[in-house]
Amino acid sequence: MPLQPSSTAAASRSDGPEFAEILAAQLAPLPLPERMLKIAALGQVVFTTSLGLEDQVLTSLIAATHADVRIVTLDTGRLFGETETLIGETERRYGLAIDVFKPWKDEVDGFIALYGVNGFYDSVEARHACCHARKLQPLGRALANAEIWMTGLRRGQSGNRANAPLAEWDADRSLLKVNPLADQTLQTLQARAKADAVPVNPLHAKGFPSIGCEPCTRAIRPGEPERAGRWWWEQDERRECGLHLSASVSGSRARGQPRVTTSAS
Ligand code: SF4
Repeated sequence: MPLQPSSTAAASRSDGPEFAEILAAQLAPLPLPERMLKIAALGQVVFTTSLGLEDQVLTSLIAATHADVRIVTLDTGRLFGETETLIGETERRYGLAIDVFKPWKDEVDGFIALYGVNGFYDSVEARHACCHARKLQPLGRALANAEIWMTGLRRGQSGNRANAPLAEWDADRSLLKVNPLADQTLQTLQARAKADAVPVNPLHAKGFPSIGCEPCTRAIRPGEPERAGRWWWEQDERRECGLHLSASVSGSRARGQPRVTTSAS
């Protein structure tokens, strides 16, 4: 069944999962530029970039294809300086705007009052509360008018993402989520970035394949999984910040009212 540009909104409440499954099958054989154009034709797309390798490749594809995609990033207030610098560098390189969403001050103040500024080291609950205030709440605002959420998720990033589809239905946010690089390898994307002179975070060359907030990211050791440096002090191998988990797991309230969490699950 061919997907039509107007069919995303119509599918957004009833047949979203079926729609996503069909779309994933249609995207699979397409080269990346064609995937980008097909996704952009479906409706209002918001791409959330963390300026990592995958996201930089997607930004380069948006620029190359002139796809109508809004690019946003979440500035948690705890990012590496290198990441902050790369935002402006990327905008200049491609002549594109990257909209920056920051956490509400009262959300962050509430977290600090409860746990302390670096209280995320003390418990999983506190860490999820910090991610909620600094990431999930801004994400909810960034996706407020989106019909389609585009991400740079890739199956090889972690066991947790091993089955990431090219398209899926995000029931908690009631929107279509597309991961056009889900089936790509790290090596393929590195080669593409090099060939296309895509600006990348210099931390990648220093042992950081996955880059999040500065206090919560370390370089990985040889042989470690790509995301081993994220929240390395926690024991749960499936750890995520909650952006890519269902609300029932992460405590996400992406479309709900702002809150300061004291419990993340
Ligand atoms: S990654 Fe760390 S600093 Fe960033 S929002 Fe989550 S807990 Fe807070």
